[in-house]
Parts: sequence; C-alpha cells; structure tokens
Amino acid sequence: MVLKMGIKDKSMHKSTKAIHAGSLKNSIFGEVSVPIFQSSTFSFPSAEEGAARFSGEQPGYIYTRMGNPTLNALEDNLATLENGFKGMVTATGMAAISTVFQTLLQQKTHIISTASVYGPTRVLLETQLSRFGIESTFVDTSDIKNIHEALQSNTRVIYIETPANPTMQITDIERTSEIAHNHDAILVVDNTFASPYLQRPIDHGADIVIHSLTKFINGHSDVVGGAIIPRSKKLYDDIRSALSLYGGTMDPHQAWLVLRGVRTLALRVEKSQENAKKLAEFLKGHHHVAWVNYPGLPEHPQYEIAKKQMDGFGAMICFGVKNGLNGGKTLMNNVEIFTLAVSLGGVESLIEHPAFMTHASVPKSDRENAGIQDELVRISVGCEDYHDLRDDLDQALNKI
Ligand code: PLP
Repeated sequence: MVLKMGIKDKSMHKSTKAIHAGSLKNSIFGEVSVPIFQSSTFSFPSAEEGAARFSGEQPGYIYTRMGNPTLNALEDNLATLENGFKGMVTATGMAAISTVFQTLLQQKTHIISTASVYGPTRVLLETQLSRFGIESTFVDTSDIKNIHEALQSNTRVIYIETPANPTMQITDIERTSEIAHNHDAILVVDNTFASPYLQRPIDHGADIVIHSLTKFINGHSDVVGGAIIPRSKKLYDDIRSALSLYGGTMDPHQAWLVLRGVRTLALRVEKSQENAKKLAEFLKGHHHVAWVNYPGLPEHPQYEIAKKQMDGFGAMICFGVKNGLNGGKTLMNNVEIFTLAVSLGGVESLIEHPAFMTHASVPKSDRENAGIQDELVRISVGCEDYHDLRDDLDQALNKI
C-alpha cells in the first residue's frame, strides 16, 4: 500500500502547516500521530510490481534508504513550511550540507560561502572537498559587494547562513539570489537559525534551503537530523539520487521525533524570541556587557534587511562581556539555568563559547576575519520564564 501524504495547502497559515502538513491522509486505524514505519525494506506484491517500482513506472516504497512513509511525512511537512518543491531528510544537518555540496560541486568548480558559517561547514569545504579540486572563498556576505567581488567564472554555488552562526550577521537573500542567478549559480541558504516559522528563503529567490533539524525544528535537544528543500523538481531529482547513493538517510524513529517536535514550532519560536528580545535589551544595558548583536535591535547593522526578510528576529543572541575572554568564562561557569552546551533551538536555554567550541575547528585567523572573536558568547534562548533567565545572566555577569 502506498500512503498518500497530507496535501500541500499553500493557503494554510504557518502554525497550521506545522501541525497538519505531512499527516497521513489514508490512515490505517484512524491514528492521529504518524506511525513509525520501522522497516528497512518493503515487500512487493509481485515480481512485476517490484520491477515497476524500481523503474519508476509504479509508485511505492522499496527500501528505507530510498524512501519511507514516516520520513516522507516529515519531508512533506518541511517542504510545505518552506514553500519548496519537496523535502529530503537526512541523518544530521552535516549530512544535508555535504550531500548538497557533493551534488552541486565538482572538480574545478567554486563556491562562495558566508565566512561566519557553522565551523564544520567551513572545515568540510576547506579540508575535505578541497581534496576533490573544489575551490571555496569565504566572505562577509552581509555586504553584497563582497559576493560580487568573489565571483569567478567557475562559481557554481553561493552558500549563505542568515542569521549567521555565531555572529548574527544578516545577508540579503533576494539580492544574493539575483547575483547567483545572473551568474548561473545556485543559491543555497542554511535556514537553521531562523526556522521556516520566521524566514522562508525560497520566497526570496533561494534555490535550496538546508536545515539542521537538531535545532528549532525538532526543538527538544533529543535528536540530530537534517533537511534539504529545493525549489525545483530538477534540483530535487538530482539531490535525491545523490542522497540515496551517499546514504545519509534519516532513521524512521528519528523522523517521528522530529515530526512530534515540529508540531509545536510556532509556540516555541514565539515564546523563545519574545524572551530573546527582552534579554537582548537587558544585556545591552548591563554594566558588564560590551556589545550585543541581535537582529531585532535597531542598531544591528542589518536590522532593515532582517525586518524585510524575516517575520521575527529569532532566539539567538551573541555578545561580548567587558573584560573579554576571562569575563565570558566567568559568565559561563556561573550560570545556573542556562546550560553550558553547544547546539541551539531547544526549549532550554543554552550558552557557549564559539571560538573554543562550535568554531574551534576553524583556524583562529579565519575565525577573526569572520568576526568570531575569542570573547564572543552565544546564547540560544529557550522557553523558560524571562525573569528567571534575566536573573540568571545577571547573577553570573555580576561575578565578573
Ligand atoms: N548549520 C548550522 C547553522 C548549525 O548550527 C549546525 C550545528 O550546530 C549545523 C548546520 C550542523 O547540523 P548537525 O549538527 O545537525 O549536523
């Protein structure tokens, strides 16, 4: 039996989509939650039907690496949220990123990337894909002129993270897509920090959206996962074939957990960004804080771009404390409600030190060129009560 997935209804509002898109329309027992189809393989009613499924003449499942109903339910949900053609889910966010790079790039091609990207994304390009003759240039893409200047005749992909990890720089998606398309290049956007609840890059001209589902979409710090959502059938077909071969597929149980998480995306993002907005204001006025970077502060250098392309400013903040690195360490060693841990986007608030943790694999000079100073502290604001979060940061900052 082939299960028909929820219909993509573009007229639904985003919080409704998060809950209903990807539900099974032909349920088996009237179940409300999507079942976990924990099966590696699927039987064929006949040899002819098996062959027809392989040739693509008949729809139907074959083998979980190539497709699975629970995975498809999540893929349908995410594609609906992102206004993409179709989705693909992967074992981790890095599996999504590496699959896309390996599909779109080849020997002697060139990629331009935001300099302040998730550390391992940069290291993947510089240490692994470089071995296959792929060239990469890292620039501050929040200044569109830098992208223009980095273009080469062999540039095939422009890759941006906006908001960028961990600097919170914002890149103008629409203008970047114009540059990419005038150059016959593909614009890929890592939308992990915003989530589709706050930003839908395909609506602004992006060709492919990537997520680490580990973060806001799952939202409970209990699963790793990734997603790729292209705008077109051609890109979907190319990446889907590569994903089946490279093998970074998600597991059905993992997909079910993410499906459970995404149902509350709207509630979680609304609450955490409300907390973040207040915390950014609080930090800005704190006598131990030197600077704060949050796209919702009018003094953020790309505040107007954020307003144009985002529905809200999100729950990620970076800041520096007045006596730099040591001050940051004191803060992190004294928080009680914030948890000192990498990752982000869960219901619990986290604090970390990118230069020594998430971005430690990037050489110091590259980090500093990308605006990731040793003193930079990153927080992921969760859904706790604002007053408790504020008091926790206040008491820990006052230990400096
Ligand atoms: N993209 C961003 C912006 C991230 O922050 C991360 C992880 O922190 C990733 C991608 C990689 O995702 P994963 O850890 O799920 O592989």
